[in-house]
Amino acid sequence: MQKVTLIPGDGIGPEITQVVKDIFEYMKVPIQWEEVEAGEHVIKDYGTPLPEYVIASIKRNKIALKGPITTPVAKGFRSVNVTLREQLNLFANLRPIKSLKAINSKFENVDLIIVRENTEDLYKGIEYKIEDIATSIRIITRKASEKIGWFTFNYAKKNNRKKVTAVHKANILKLGDGLFLDAIRNISKEFSDIEYEEKIVDNMSMQLVMNPEKYDVIVAPNLFGDILSDLAAGLIGGLGLAPGANIGDDVAVFEAVHGSAPDIANQGIANPIAILRSSIMLLDYLNLSDYAKQLESAIEKSLFDKNVLTPDLNGNGNTLTLKNKIISFLS
Ligand code: ATP
Repeated sequence: MQKVTLIPGDGIGPEITQVVKDIFEYMKVPIQWEEVEAGEHVIKDYGTPLPEYVIASIKRNKIALKGPITTPVAKGFRSVNVTLREQLNLFANLRPIKSLKAINSKFENVDLIIVRENTEDLYKGIEYKIEDIATSIRIITRKASEKIGWFTFNYAKKNNRKKVTAVHKANILKLGDGLFLDAIRNISKEFSDIEYEEKIVDNMSMQLVMNPEKYDVIVAPNLFGDILSDLAAGLIGGLGLAPGANIGDDVAVFEAVHGSAPDIANQGIANPIAILRSSIMLLDYLNLSDYAKQLESAIEKSLFDKNVLTPDLNGNGNTLTLKNKIISFLS
């Protein structure tokens, strides 16, 4: 049976990953979890939020489901998420943003794929400070830009997508984003059946909140991709609904777009839909598409009942009521 590394994580992580475990068990999904701990709560035992055995487990199984992990601010630790992406060379962050019929948000037909470059840009974390002058270095390479470009267009082709929009700020960052754009533009020429356009990030932000239906696949450098993903999550009803995947050449780590939400942890009210939708992406990745479809349909049906929805969706329920409702629609 396929083994999958499971990292519950911090904050609401254990509550929402438990929902995935319970539902997969109910559905008898043919995978075996290998549960490992990472995050703020393991620092006292391991001296690091990301113990070596966690990386080893993902390298062995080549696939993981990860709850959100908190990086302690200003304690000298690098972000666990960034370290994982670097060490496993998870170069693409794939974030589908799709409207759900039952959720009353301002837009009904959003169906976007945001592809975020995952390994460089400001996330290299190269910074200097001399007295009161801080410098943050933004790295963009042709190699990483081409890698994300090929990934984006191949994904678009495989999934029958019609248009790719490259997001940038090359009018100001002439060298960095100029290089990123040049790489993506060259690759676009190999895919004549896919429309290609470029948008400056500030204009893209406005376009997305006015006409999100006009966009299909968006490819962006790391920081712009991160910001646009949260913005886009807001278009479909919030962070509690937006899934994601970090993809490498032969390893994939699935996780929700949201963070550990410490403000609502341990209250039983976290929305499990984002991590469940991430687990659907995981099922598809493992070619367990029948299970993926079944779960997707059960989620869609359950969201019509306001009494079971979590408070972030203006519902009167909690994590457990939503889980039970989803289970009631399975088989
Ligand atoms: P990070 O920097 O790790 O991405 P963040 O500071 O952006 O984290 P989140 O943890 O993502 O913040 O939370 C942002 C807001 O969204 C918080 O108010 C949080 O309670 C809410 N939120 C995030 N995820 C969920 C969820 N699954 N269910 C309900 N509310 C959520």
